Amino acid sequence: MKKLIVANFKMNQQPSDVKNYFIKFVSLFTGVRADVVICPAYLDIPLAKFLTNQSPVKIGAQNVSDEEEGAFTGEVSAKMLKAQGVEYVLIGHSDRRIKFKESDKLINKKIKTALKNGLKCIVCVGETLADRNTERTYEVIRKQLDEDLRGLYENELESVIIAYEPIWAIGTGNNASVKDVENAAKVIRRAINENFSEKASRDIQVLYGGSLNEKNYAPLLSCTGIDGGLFGGLSLNVNALLNIANSIK
Ligand code: PEP
Repeated sequence: MKKLIVANFKMNQQPSDVKNYFIKFVSLFTGVRADVVICPAYLDIPLAKFLTNQSPVKIGAQNVSDEEEGAFTGEVSAKMLKAQGVEYVLIGHSDRRIKFKESDKLINKKIKTALKNGLKCIVCVGETLADRNTERTYEVIRKQLDEDLRGLYENELESVIIAYEPIWAIGTGNNASVKDVENAAKVIRRAINENFSEKASRDIQVLYGGSLNEKNYAPLLSCTGIDGGLFGGLSLNVNALLNIANSIK
């Protein structure tokens, strides 16, 4: 199975950057070794969709409203994203959990709304440095998964991907070790097994994200239980992302 590579541009690119990025990425991406999902800012989604029209590159959103429609000023609904051709959405990213105070209850509602509207959810979980230092990593991930996926039907998990993103590793240059990542993948799959089924725990895609770069991605993304990676900072460099997407084993 091909690895899954997800790029999160966050609030970084201007439309001209996005244009140049996608023109280059689409012309040089082989699509042989990896599936790629790129998540630009909401405003850049129509341009990104236009430029990836003839390519295997999929477009994701960085966020979505938990509400279907109505008086929610500034929000963007799952239905609106779907109408733009978006296929994936990041939910529960630590930027949202911490800076926008998103709770597991809200994340659960966002996942349900996104799934109902036909979007695939990339659900991010991970512990803080304080959790890690007090040996609460696995307890924290387990609680997030139990609450975020509560009430989902097993067949809906086919449209859910879990990204293990330790918060202390995001944007810090301090990536988790292979052992950390393998252990987290085990905890994630155990939670899916206990809450859903053994089959679901085997089938679900689990990603690692947190200070991935051209030097560390190979061991981290080929470790047991990991199906791909979520790239933040590195993904802004089109050559670096292309190199990884075209050469990952
Ligand atoms: C992220 O924001 O999800 C992320 C993984 O960022 P970075 O790769 O920069 O650590």
